[in-house]
Amino acid sequence: MIKIKDLHKSYRMGTSSLHVLKGINFEVEEGELVAIMGSSGSGKSTLLNIIGMLDLLDKGSYELDGVPIKDLDETKAANYRNKFLGFVFQSFNLINYKTALENVTLPLYYQGVKRKEREALAWKYLDDFGLKEWATHLPSELSGGQKQRVAIARAMVTKPKVLLADELTGALDSKTSEEVMALIQEINQAGKTILIVTHEEDIANMCTRIVRLKDGIIMEDKKNKMVKAI
Ligand code: ADP
Ligand code: MG
Repeated sequence: MIKIKDLHKSYRMGTSSLHVLKGINFEVEEGELVAIMGSSGSGKSTLLNIIGMLDLLDKGSYELDGVPIKDLDETKAANYRNKFLGFVFQSFNLINYKTALENVTLPLYYQGVKRKEREALAWKYLDDFGLKEWATHLPSELSGGQKQRVAIARAMVTKPKVLLADELTGALDSKTSEEVMALIQEINQAGKTILIVTHEEDIANMCTRIVRLKDGIIMEDKKNKMVKAI
């Protein structure tokens, strides 16, 4: 599903440059649930953003579902992003003046899906994720865990090939984090490929594979045979 070879990324800052990713080799098969771990500043978000086509690599190669990502122009890149990738962020990134239902229908609107179908799909995901009673509520009326489940529904409603999450439990207490991770495990068990950036061991232990980054290189990459079920 994902094939990365000798990936390098630097950020230019004035006249100097910061070498953040220093030769990453990384492959993900369909159906994996991967945790990308590492301390703050180790390059986790940079790597996830490149995988999510939110940022470009400097050197090396990246293939997503057989498509080399480097050669795509802006429009093609945006199309692939909308079609293939779903994102979840620490801060939920929900639109405050729209209901849960409207937030979930939005990506479908941008894909040109008709209103009836948009709403039917959004209801289905909210219902599946235990949020039916909250569909017509605004984000400000929801708990942190509910907000993140709405954000996951919004990411899933377009049926992406890969779900990417950056510190999705970073703003949640540990009990709520477990509930959100239980949903992530459920989605993964239904076959979805998922990559999670986290700096919490507890969260990584709920994934099937743990990749450790340090100073822009992969220090360790191993299967987690003792996946913590919730
Ligand atoms: P992590 O997610 O592991 O905390 P990041 O990938 O966000 O790490 O950042 C890695 C390094 O790159 C950090 O030193 C950070 O300050 C720097 N960095 C991240 N994004 C940018 C940017 N857009 N411009 C300049 N430096 C950046
Ligand atoms: Mg980060």
